[in-house]
Amino acid sequence: MPMKFPSFRSRREDYPEKMWTRCPSCEEQLFNKQLEKAMNVCPSCGHHFRLSATMRLSQLLDDGSFVERDPGLVSVDPLGFVDQKPYPDRVAAAQLATGLRDAAVWGTGRIEGMRIAILVMDFGFMGGSMGAVVGEKVARAAEGALEEGIPLVIVSASGGARMQEGTLALMQLVKTMAALERLRAARVPYVSVMSDPTTGGVFASYAAMGDVNLAEPNALIGFAGARVGAGTIGQELPPGFQRSEFLYRHGFVDRIVQRADLRQELAQVLRFLAPTQPWGKEAARG
Ligand SMILES: [Zn+2]
Repeated sequence: MPMKFPSFRSRREDYPEKMWTRCPSCEEQLFNKQLEKAMNVCPSCGHHFRLSATMRLSQLLDDGSFVERDPGLVSVDPLGFVDQKPYPDRVAAAQLATGLRDAAVWGTGRIEGMRIAILVMDFGFMGGSMGAVVGEKVARAAEGALEEGIPLVIVSASGGARMQEGTLALMQLVKTMAALERLRAARVPYVSVMSDPTTGGVFASYAAMGDVNLAEPNALIGFAGARVGAGTIGQELPPGFQRSEFLYRHGFVDRIVQRADLRQELAQVLRFLAPTQPWGKEAARG
């Protein structure tokens, strides 16, 4: 169903633009316009900055092809959870800061003319944490892909399950996996893209389960943090532990893809996974 009210809006209109950003990797001062033009990748050292959901969608999809689904899903506060402030206040602050309703946006769109279902996460919304809304959107994206017989692409950016929703957040691991299992049984392709960071319950469920798992360079990817890991096994961890390149060397990631190549790489992978599928025709029908 076409959207009436998108669950996100452009962040840039909300406050005066900062002109410069310092690259945390090479410390170069980067002109923001130049950085944005380079897809938020540092032109001098290649550091991949995090991307908002809106920027990610516009970089990956054919112009104007995105139609958002389920934009109205919003978190409730099932536990009456309060830490330094009540959970509903935290959600409201995140909504105001990001222009999103929650940490994930899903819908349908096209990559090089091929119709796909796509879900992207935004780390700027409470660390991209997965509560019932994110889990439900992942499940619905998988169900939408299954229903139409079009491939699913998920771009993750998350610190893991949202503690403010307790066990309900943990249940999303099982729910998303069940939805992906139905997709797998129907032989509909699912490609996972892991960006910085993809950790905790999101890595432990759908992010690691792609038919093909792609990662952006130097992204933090893993389940528990390095300190927890080192404490548990009582050993120092190897250099580069939990970065894309380490996971690639150990077989958890199939390819590391520069952001500038991601759109083309995704299109190639999707064609390769099911070359006979009539996605092109689906695309023509809109
Ligand atoms: Zn840099």
